[in-house]
Amino acid sequence: MHITVINKNIKIMKHYDVVIVGAGPAGLRCAELIKETSLSVLLLEKNPVIGPKVCAGGITKKSLELMDIPDQLIEYEIKASMIRSPKYFHEGELPEPAVFMIDRQQFGQWQATKLKNSNIEIKTGSLVTDIQNNKLTVNRQEEFSFKYLVGADGANSIVRRYLKLPVKRKLVTLQYKIPGLYPERVELILNSGFFQSGYAWVFPHKDYFSVGCGVDPGFFPVQKLKKGFEIWLKQNNFDLSKAKYESFPISYDCRGFAFGNIFLAGEAAGLASGLTGEGIYQALVSGEEIARMIMDKDYVSIPMKKIIKYNKIQLRILQLFRIAGPFRDMLYNLLIKLFRSWQFNKKIIKGYS
Ligand SMILES: Cc1cc2nc3c(=O)[nH]c(=O)nc-3n(C[C@H](O)[C@H](O)[C@H](O)COP(=O)(O)OP(=O)(O)OC[C@H]3O[C@@H](n4cnc5c(N)ncnc54)[C@H](O)[C@@H]3O)c2cc1C
Repeated sequence: MHITVINKNIKIMKHYDVVIVGAGPAGLRCAELIKETSLSVLLLEKNPVIGPKVCAGGITKKSLELMDIPDQLIEYEIKASMIRSPKYFHEGELPEPAVFMIDRQQFGQWQATKLKNSNIEIKTGSLVTDIQNNKLTVNRQEEFSFKYLVGADGANSIVRRYLKLPVKRKLVTLQYKIPGLYPERVELILNSGFFQSGYAWVFPHKDYFSVGCGVDPGFFPVQKLKKGFEIWLKQNNFDLSKAKYESFPISYDCRGFAFGNIFLAGEAAGLASGLTGEGIYQALVSGEEIARMIMDKDYVSIPMKKIIKYNKIQLRILQLFRIAGPFRDMLYNLLIKLFRSWQFNKKIIKGYS
């Protein structure tokens, strides 16, 4: 006679074809593309709710074209801008709408609804705490094994750390969300003394506006940025008494996105622009393209090549601002003069759209 002893402490590890870490734009888009297949997919999100993210919430036309984003998600279609340098400013209509304002929580929720009634299992409140040889641990207790792993877990990615890829290029950002209305325009402030080769912005939303700034701390100390930002906010009479302060890094240090059976998408891959901080579009495209790579081993991604090329151009412009040193403000003043030209404006918007 055989006696079987069952040890109640041994948990059975569940296996998935694909585990996606992070339900931001990249992870949700990746899941959306895979949902049509027979692959088993687990999407893990550390937050209890999908969507909220420190962000100014501006997207460009290319994101709208990629995803068919419903009109009701667009808070404002920005048709005007104000750009300031220490000496000059330019205020005016844009040749065409350049930025579309979204609320990140609503956007994330909309992306998540596309996964309803599919083979994608979403687990919120699930922080990935450890990764080892084709398995990972959630909330330090539950383990899952995977065939493919997608790190879509943003600028502080644990998947990227597992791959031992450092993040040397990043922006530190500071942002106040101020309740109230602001004119329907985007404002960009170029001022070397306050923001060095970075910039400050004002982006309007439905019931608040975002006032923020960012720069790479490798080139400008964070303390100096904070102090300069506070002075600039005071000089411009922003009322911060009811404002919500936020800060989060933006990674623009791309060292690849495909590593055998492990992929990095969006900011985990360092795909944001170091010049503007734009990263939602890159997150959506990379999520989508990684899904295609998982579904077809021979797939060669042209959109990823385009994004990497686009980010390289942005980096070159940023490097120009950096090496300009004492002449940086002169360069900014010159830029404002150029922005007064309708043709120049059109070219810039085309470049970003
Ligand atoms: C102040 C600021 C302003 C910005 N403004 C703009 C803008 O106007 N336009 C624009 O295009 N971009 C902007 N960005 C950049 C943009 O927010 C990001 O590039 C974009 O959100 C990246 O998407 P993602 O899906 O790669 O990562 P994220 O949006 O960061 O999503 C990652 C997800 O992974 C989850 N996660 C992280 N770690 C774990 C873990 N260990 N386990 C489980 N889940 C985890 C997070 O909770 C999060 O939900 C801004 C960024 C900042 C900081």
